[in-house]
Amino acid sequence: MDSETYEEVVCRHCDGAGCTYCDKKGRVSARKPACLCKRCGGDGCIYCGYTGWADVKGKYEQ
Ligand SMILES: [Zn+2]
Ligand SMILES: [Zn+2]
Repeated sequence: MDSETYEEVVCRHCDGAGCTYCDKKGRVSARKPACLCKRCGGDGCIYCGYTGWADVKGKYEQ
């Protein structure tokens, strides 16, 4: 059911290489339709968890 709400996008911080912000997966789940974080424009900030994406599914959310 997550796939209905979220889509996988490449982590902007590591560009898919894997980093601590994407849990070393290189990808994060962003709420559809995935769009870049408006605060940083995809560069990464505290609001997007440094992934560069808006409405990223948090590690600690279910
Ligand atoms: Zn990453
Ligand atoms: Zn941001």
